[in-house]
Amino acid sequence: MRRKLLLGNWKMFKGPSDAKKLGEALKDKFKGATKPDAVAVFPPALSFASVRAALDGSPLTAGVQNLHWEKDGAFTGEISAAMAKEAGAVFALIGHSERRQYFGETDETVNKKTKAALANALVPVVCVGETLQERDGNQTNMVLTRQLKGGLAGLSAESAATIVVAYEPVWAIGTGRVATPEQAEAAHAHIRNELRVLFGALADSLPIVYGGSVKPDNARGLMSQPNIDGALVGGASLDANGFYAIGEAF
Ligand code: PEP
Repeated sequence: MRRKLLLGNWKMFKGPSDAKKLGEALKDKFKGATKPDAVAVFPPALSFASVRAALDGSPLTAGVQNLHWEKDGAFTGEISAAMAKEAGAVFALIGHSERRQYFGETDETVNKKTKAALANALVPVVCVGETLQERDGNQTNMVLTRQLKGGLAGLSAESAATIVVAYEPVWAIGTGRVATPEQAEAAHAHIRNELRVLFGALADSLPIVYGGSVKPDNARGLMSQPNIDGALVGGASLDANGFYAIGEAF
């Protein structure tokens, strides 16, 4: 059985004090056993410490939204995988479409960051997904293949054993327009096939989570698909009750 993951990307929302409050609300909400096997939130880097502290004693963990592949150095504004690890991060989002779109992230930088995350015992959540134009041009599978081959290049099955892939169609992120369960399942099945080409049998144990306007009322249909192993939630993860309700749909 694959692990089912509920991941919350807070994007550039919640400064340290608001983030602490949300962390406390989540700790309170998720205090019993949860349906997902793991629940993690990704606050802005400046708020990471306050969230980590607020979640102390809770089964919830935290991750970073981005990292740099070098250990340290003259890279103003960046944080390294080693620093994220030291601060208590368990996961690292890599190659989120907003980073690809606005900050020049490429399959090559995704590859370097994924390797840095793995080298520092962080679980990389490697994000892939097509734009609306690419979907309309029947290029979805081609784009996913390119992003996976580039982003995961040079990794052995052994080194890739902990990775998580997030399928996030760009047209569904923050738009309220969610992929249908069938559209998402088709993309996830394609991703799983590509992972099989790259890593053989390991592909069957790697979680592939869906992201793109997941809400409490659409989560159940998505989560019932055989190749959907959880959710990467943006907007709806900023509300403790809504985020919890999504987990209940697992
Ligand atoms: C995301 O930020 O990864 C995301 C999927 O956002 P939203 O749920 O708001 O579409």
